[in-house]
Amino acid sequence: MNKYLYLLIIIIISCHKPYEPVSVNLNVNQVPHLKNWGVQARELITIWSPRIARILDVEGYPHNIDLTLQKSDEGIAHADSNAITVSSHWIEKYPEDIGLIVHEAVHVVQLYPEFEPGWVTEGIADYIRWHLYEMKPLEWFPVGEDEKGYEAAYRISGGFFLWITKFKNSDFIKILNTAMKKGEYDETVFFNSTGGELDPLWQEYMQYRKANL
Ligand SMILES: [Zn+2]
Repeated sequence: MNKYLYLLIIIIISCHKPYEPVSVNLNVNQVPHLKNWGVQARELITIWSPRIARILDVEGYPHNIDLTLQKSDEGIAHADSNAITVSSHWIEKYPEDIGLIVHEAVHVVQLYPEFEPGWVTEGIADYIRWHLYEMKPLEWFPVGEDEKGYEAAYRISGGFFLWITKFKNSDFIKILNTAMKKGEYDETVFFNSTGGELDPLWQEYMQYRKANL
């Protein structure tokens, strides 16, 4: 009995990874009147980064993130390695659009060697923001009529990924992310995880959406 107890303790110790929280360095020096928004955004990044890592099956990702609210009349937001920047005019016009922070936090966790294909990178970020954070159902996602409409990125690609995840392979996002992270993405990832080629899959998705308005 003691032997098993000893073994159990060894297993528990070896499986235990110390939990390291994400820390966010918030900079609102240029726009101090937006501090409350920044504090909420910081909270979202802290909570969502580990969730995003689990969703994407990522072990290592930046745990020190810079969040800057920049005084600017153009652009919305962008992420560059561990730094997220949001433009002040956007927050002033659309303060309720705080979910954009989840989209940018996905980019920080993704940290792909190559951004391309951009529609995959952006589609994954919008799948997580709109479906998992905003809890929008598949019917909410816009569709594209083009033959390669999935290349429209953002919500259009995000909806396509959601449909694949729901009906073809529940691990699809993890598989897609792993391919991107290794710099090994090509279209075969669709066939290998669903049994269908990319273009016919898109057509099937369009048919599904038309039949389920
Ligand atoms: Zn993006």
